[in-house]
This record gives sequence, structure tokens and C-alpha cells, in this order.
Amino acid sequence: MGIDSPITSLSGIGEVRARAFARLGIYTVGDLLSHYPRSYQDRGNTKALCDGDPERDCSYILTVITEPQLRRIRGNMSILKFRASDNTGICEITYFNQPYYKNQIRHGAKIRFFGRVIKTKDIYKMNNPKPEAIVPGKDLQNIVPVYPLCEGLTGRIVSDAVTAALSSHLPDVTEYLPEDIRRDNGLPTLQFSVREIHRPSDSQSLEKAIKRLRFDEMFTFGLAMRLARKGMVRASAPRMISGDMSRFLSVLPFSLTGAQSRALGDIAHDMTEGDGVMTQPMSRIVSGDVGSGKTAVAAGAAFIALNNGYQAALMAPTEILATQHMTELSELFDKLGYRTALLTGSTSRSERRKILSALEAGEIHLIVGTHALIGDGVVFKRPGLFITDEQHRFGVMQRAALSEKADDAHILVMSATPIPRTLALAMYGDLDLSVLDELPPGRQRVDTFVVDESYRARLDAFISKQMSEGHQCYIVCPAVEDNSDEDDEDTGDHLSAATEYSEALGKRLPQLRVGCMHGRLPSVEKDAVMSSFISGKTHVLVSTTVIEVGVNVPNATLMIIENAERFGLSQLHQLRGRVGRGSAKSYCVLVSSKEGGNSRARLDTMRTTYDGYKIAEKDLELRGPGDFFATQYSARQSGGLKFRFASSIADEGELKDILSAADKLLERDPELSLEENIPLSGKIKQLADSAHGTVN
Ligand code: ADP
Ligand code: MG
Repeated sequence: MGIDSPITSLSGIGEVRARAFARLGIYTVGDLLSHYPRSYQDRGNTKALCDGDPERDCSYILTVITEPQLRRIRGNMSILKFRASDNTGICEITYFNQPYYKNQIRHGAKIRFFGRVIKTKDIYKMNNPKPEAIVPGKDLQNIVPVYPLCEGLTGRIVSDAVTAALSSHLPDVTEYLPEDIRRDNGLPTLQFSVREIHRPSDSQSLEKAIKRLRFDEMFTFGLAMRLARKGMVRASAPRMISGDMSRFLSVLPFSLTGAQSRALGDIAHDMTEGDGVMTQPMSRIVSGDVGSGKTAVAAGAAFIALNNGYQAALMAPTEILATQHMTELSELFDKLGYRTALLTGSTSRSERRKILSALEAGEIHLIVGTHALIGDGVVFKRPGLFITDEQHRFGVMQRAALSEKADDAHILVMSATPIPRTLALAMYGDLDLSVLDELPPGRQRVDTFVVDESYRARLDAFISKQMSEGHQCYIVCPAVEDNSDEDDEDTGDHLSAATEYSEALGKRLPQLRVGCMHGRLPSVEKDAVMSSFISGKTHVLVSTTVIEVGVNVPNATLMIIENAERFGLSQLHQLRGRVGRGSAKSYCVLVSSKEGGNSRARLDTMRTTYDGYKIAEKDLELRGPGDFFATQYSARQSGGLKFRFASSIADEGELKDILSAADKLLERDPELSLEENIPLSGKIKQLADSAHGTVN
């Protein structure tokens, strides 16, 4: 069994705790060992009371000099108080609501307290410091890991479980990086890294372990992207004879922007190149700012296929987006005399049967859908073009699955994420990229404001005013962190911030109908909440960032983002792009009470900059490349890839080094089929499956 043993095989973990671990997605010993600490406390910095630091947590080795006194107050509240000292002073220590320390802290004991020291007139004081008994013959850890927690799990429980897992299963951790890659990049072994990440011996070893693990993260991601792209590259695809688009342009309700024309020119060129029946398949990404009109480009590309007698498919990541595309595209293609159909998970069986047979007979020309399109039984008569929208929301490898369907088809990917070009090239390798860096004319600017909590009443009034004018409003709250406090005994709060927020808002503004959406809702309910907002039944949609990326509700004129400092700039830009889609004046309000760091300057960028590419550059500069990618590919969605270490990547140089290691490896072993690369290949499949499994 080894690393795949259930965690219940560890001492101290029974069914109840196993259920709590399951909430964090931890089922096996291996899962537990890759449940990495969120951060570390430096408890090695020991001070004397007279040098006590009121600003920062430090360690103080003190002897308890009075009997701890526990006082119960009102219901469950309690206060535990005692005194402790070193040679330089006496400290009064108080614990609020942690009565269990009464049994752990005894008069006369020597204890390392970790916390802040305040000096008052005649005595030092500490509140709720972390106590660790000093026992002869047992060293205290100086770098203490802080784990992500959830309800039912304390830091102590997780930490003990990890200790048990390390002592019995560390030898079962198998290396997957080939020896020479490790050597060339100066990386320690996986066993070393797993041990040090959980139980750092010192800060140098921890740094080495982190370097190795972040290498792994970006290296496997880079490999997966490259392999997926290679999967997209077909031997050949039908050559389109005509790239003429005049019939299409004549039914389009607007004229194309320059950027749209250029992208369609690239596409027509790719699809018509050569002079045989078959040609080198197109494999192109269209990246465009929010609202830059990617759908029209997709439609134009589909038109080329249809006009040449081939079929086209457009796959969107959610049912709502697929339905929205269908509405827009069927109107257009009806006029051109082509048949369209929508295929999603909720298409009825009989309907599905009809659609599939019409598709196979070549009677349906354009099919729009969700990942149902890559399911069994979907067969095209004359496949010409496969388009995926908002590609990063599909598992990386799902694109490879798609391209199996699209054997012999051209491939077009629409990405809603403006990524600076240099980084896009580093990331995807030899990518064919068309950039929509121009917005359609007449688009009005979404006026953006940065406010703090003191504006709350005015903000409520503003919401009411917008609603009374018949408009709608989005409010985005960040998801609550698994555990916002490092307190060992604290259990994580899993209630979505959105739920509480919408209840409070409903009380303040009872005349409004408020919908609430968060990652934990089952997807049917998400769809219901979303549909109700789209149809205008609800006025306000309170949501975590699971809010649909491409959703188009032109009647929404107000976007409020709470705790805006917690979002990346690109993410804020995406969210802001949900409004300003109709003719009415739209607004974006960034609520932030945080003063420190560069958060104000960052948010001011949003107030003054409206170009998604400029914002992406700025975001990249502020966050570093690893973190930038991590938010692009994971944070926005409840599923998606998990990046834990990417944010510590130092700069573009390090990222490029890692990715060029991936390129070098693939040059030597394009399919990762050599003996020494099999474990790595398995690791990448795992990564792909996990990204795959989370698409709703
Ligand atoms: P996105 O790139 O964010 O997917 P869409 O394709 O949804 O953007 O387009 C946003 C809006 O702009 C749609 O209402 C679309 O009809 C409109 N639009 C697209 N291209 C043009 C254009 N060239 N001129 C005017 N309006 C356009
Ligand atoms: Mg779109």
C-alpha cells in the first residue's frame, strides 16, 4: 500500500478525523504528505523580556511563577491568568477562551512562549502566546509549520498526523524527477524536500526544499501545457479552399475592429494554406481583453469551415456560457442558412440522440456545447474546426481529449486572459497567437472608484439608486481562507463570506432580491442562481469569484468588489469586465480598508488603467510570474490547478529556466516514454486528471 494507504492507517486517526481530513481532499498518506504548510512561524528568534517586541511574534523562554487561575465568565467564556519570568523581568500572561491550557501549564514549568510582549508601567504582558513545554532531551522546532485547516481539524491534529506519516512512510515517497534534471538544476531529492517542507531543520534546508517543490510545480505544469499543445497538433486537417468572408460580414450587425480583422486574417491564412486537399492544421490561440469581441472571431472562423462544407464545434466551460454563445451564434448562422445545435449535460436523452445523429449525418453544421462535446458518441461527418472558449478553465489535458475528437480538424482556442506576450511565449512554447488588443468603438468606460468602509452607507444608497433605475449589481467577496488565524486550537471557518454578506445585505436593503453564489454550491444550484440573475429576477448577485468569467448580463451596471486588495489586478479587470456591457453608464467600486504595503497604489492602477494588457504587465511586475500564472489558472475557479509554491518564483529568469528545462527534456524524449521519464510522465497524468476532474 505504501503511500496510498488510507490515513486511518496512521495512529491517532479514526473515522471522525478521517472525515475532517476528507474535507481538505486528504484521503491517503500521500495526500497528507502533500498537504504543505501554508506558512511558517520563526520561533528560533528567542528574546529576553527586557528586549520584548510589541510588533512581532517572538519566542520567550520563561518559568511559570504563579499557579494559573481560570475564571469562567458568561457562558463559554473564560480567562486564564498567571505570571512567568526570566532574569530580566516578570510577565503577566493571559489566555482568553483557551481553558485547556490550565492543565498544560503548571507552576514551576519552563515554557517557550511565542507571541508579542507589551510593556506596561510596571510589568510585561502577553496575550494568547503559543506555549511549548521545554523538556530535557527534546529539542523544540525553531521553524514551525502552519497548516491550512478546516472544521474539525486543529493545527495540532494535522501536525501530529504529518509526523506519523513522515516517520512511517517517508521511504515510500518515490522520486519522479530524472537524476540529470535534478543535478542540472541543483535540486535536492523529493524525500529530502518532503521532510524539510514539513519539519525544516533550518532555514537553508527549507529554502532548498521550497526551490525544489516550486520547480516541480512549474516544470510539470509547463510539460503538461507543451504535451497538450502537441496533442493538439494533428498530422493534417482539411484545407479550406475559400477564405472569403464577405457573406459572413454582411450579416454581422457591426463592422470588425482592426484587431478582429487581423485575427480572422491569421485564421483564414492558417486554414487555407497550401494547395492539396489536406493542410497543416491550424493551432492558434486568440487572446483578447474582456469585451474585445472574441465571439465574433470564433464565429468568423466557424464560418470559414461551414462555407467550405465542413462542420465546426464550439466548446465552452459551463452550460451558461454555452447557452449564451448558442443564442448569439444561432441568430447569425440562421441568417446564413446553417443549422446549429446546443449539446450540454442537461440536454435530454432523446434530444441528444437526435442531435448526434444529425451531426453524424452532416445536417448540423455548427454544434455548441460544454464538455459533453467530447463525450462518447459525438461523431462528425466532416469535422473542420474545433473551438474552445476560455480555455484555461478546462483541464489542461481536456484539450488533448478534445483534439482526439478533432482528429483532422483545425483548432482554435479563445483565451480571455490578457497575458503579456513574452510570458505567453515562454509558457506555451512555439505558440501561434493572435491578440485582440483593441476594443470595439463606442464602448464606454466603467468608472472605477476605490473606497473604504466609511463609504458603506453611501454605497448602499448607490446600490438602491441603481436598482431603482432597473439595473442590476454584482458584489464579489473573496472566499474565506481555510483558516485565517494561525491559532492552533482554532478550527477553520468554512462558511463562505458570500453567504454572510448576502444575508447582511438583505437585512440592510430588504427591498432588493439578492442571490448568492459560491464555490460550494452544487452546479445545478449555481446554474439556478445564475439564471435567475440573467433573467433579471434577482437584482443583486453576491458571489465569490466563481462568478462566470464570460457571462454577459448587459443590464448589470454596478460591480462592487469587497476586500479588493486581495485580488490580482488581472482578476479585478476580469471582474470589472462583467459590467459596462449594455448602453447604460456602469461603475466599479473597489472596497478596501487596507492601507499598508502597495495595496493602495495597486488599486489606483485600476482607477486609471482600462487596458487589460497594460494591467497584466503591471500585475506581472507586482506579483512575479509564478503568482501571476497561479491566479490565472487556479484561483478564479473552485476547480482548476493548485499552485502552492509558484508565487515564490523569483523572476521571469527563473521561470524561463524551468520552462527551458521542460523544452530540453521534450527534445530528448518527446513522449516522455524513456524508462527514466516514466515516473514523471505518471506525475503529469495525475496533474491532468486532477485538473480534468474538477470541471463542472
Ligand atoms: P469577449 O471578447 O469578452 O468574449 P464578446 O465576444 O462577448 O467579448 O463581445 C462583447 C460585446 O461586443 C458583444 O455584445 C458583441 O456583440 C460586441 N462586439 C463584438 N465585436 C464588435 C465590433 N467589432 N463592434 C461592435 N460591437 C462588437
Ligand atoms: Mg467571451
